[in-house]
Amino acid sequence: MAAPAAVDAITPVVVLGSGLAAWSAVRELRRLHRSTPVSLITERNGDFYAKPALSNALAQGKGADQLVTTPVATMAAQLAVDVVPHTRISAIDTAARTVQSADGRVWPYARLVLATGALPIPLALPDSPVPVLSVNGLEDYAALRQALEATQQRTGQRARVLIVGAGLIGCEFANDLAVKGHPVTVVDPGQRPLAALLPLAASQQLADALAALGVQWLWGQTASAPLAAEHDVVLSAIGLRPDVALAQAVGLRTERGVLVNEHLQTSAPDVYALGDVAQYASESLDGTASRPLPYVMPIMAAAKALAAHLAFTEAGSAPTPLRFAPMPVAVKTPALPLLVLPPAPGALGQWQAPSAPGVWQWADAQGTVRGFALPGAATATRAKALAALGQRVPTGVEQAP
Ligand SMILES: Cc1cc2nc3c(=O)[nH]c(=O)nc-3n(C[C@H](O)[C@H](O)[C@H](O)COP(=O)(O)OP(=O)(O)OC[C@H]3O[C@@H](n4cnc5c(N)ncnc54)[C@H](O)[C@@H]3O)c2cc1C
Repeated sequence: MAAPAAVDAITPVVVLGSGLAAWSAVRELRRLHRSTPVSLITERNGDFYAKPALSNALAQGKGADQLVTTPVATMAAQLAVDVVPHTRISAIDTAARTVQSADGRVWPYARLVLATGALPIPLALPDSPVPVLSVNGLEDYAALRQALEATQQRTGQRARVLIVGAGLIGCEFANDLAVKGHPVTVVDPGQRPLAALLPLAASQQLADALAALGVQWLWGQTASAPLAAEHDVVLSAIGLRPDVALAQAVGLRTERGVLVNEHLQTSAPDVYALGDVAQYASESLDGTASRPLPYVMPIMAAAKALAAHLAFTEAGSAPTPLRFAPMPVAVKTPALPLLVLPPAPGALGQWQAPSAPGVWQWADAQGTVRGFALPGAATATRAKALAALGQRVPTGVEQAP
């Protein structure tokens, strides 16, 4: 591991982005070191909000502004950060240690943190007669609300929404929109919701719970212009892809995301990455393949490890390598809340018959419990499910999706 260069009193740590990853990194750094100069450059305005709230805010009647939990001025003052808003960085020079915006402004960095997130995978629906939206930020959420309201004003009816993709975000929006009284159809080439995360029976439970709210499922199909034409809005939820263009342009090592080691270092000296843009090292993941982890809990762990590394020359603290604890994901579908610790993609193993009502365990090829799915009331057994990880159960083998 290369020791980071000392930060002088003038050249700042520069953080790109203002999502959970960027702000968490700054917050953790400030816990360890108050005086390191920090600049945060973002193409947004820098307000702090919890992105997971986007997919259950409609039912609460919240507009985009109401989702801001801390305005940028407060964040900047509390964390002693110089914020450069509405600025997209278009180039990095790792030799000169500078970043540059599209309009030619240049900022020097002592260390650079990429927290630039992921972008929605574009949905190919060129002939759609209705708006095709995806929600990955406050502005997108505002646009969705606007499209829904425009239909309501035009027709006097709740907008009919076609959701493309029955994954986590598609299911959460289906629940949220249906509760608000929108006719919702979900189309997916697969055969069940959250197929990559849940055993068949739990998927079926979720499908039934959302159907009871009026959600219609169209399995084994993809979105088409004629299908879109039966709706007022198309909401694409086919996934996000780490935004690696900036990193690739300067020759950083990337696969699906920007590759980082257990100190969040990229392949360039003094350049770090975390959050949805990053692909975490395999040794941090109990031997499973290196991969992006586009969730909140990994960001919290990564921000701590990053801050420890950034601060250790200044504060004399020891750098602590990134170690992920088991990180269950709460699926925000109030019709059937779920808590899931899914198997790694492609891992060998299988879901076991419930050991207690509604408690599903996933065991690897050696019969070791590595994951779980807890639907409905079983979410209360979280602590027990976590404690059972690593225990052996009799099992057969199949491949995870
Ligand atoms: C609808 C929805 C619901 C979710 N629900 C959950 C949940 O329940 N639980 C969970 O664990 N996770 C959930 N997630 C995932 C979680 O929210 C993300 O993993 C996390 O917010 C990613 O944070 P980030 O800071 O890495 O990326 P982002 O939030 O995408 O932030 C990146 C920022 O960088 C800016 N930026 C990008 N490029 C540049 C550039 N070149 N120059 C300047 N600025 C730039 C972007 O504008 C953006 O503001 C959800 C995600 C979505 C979309």
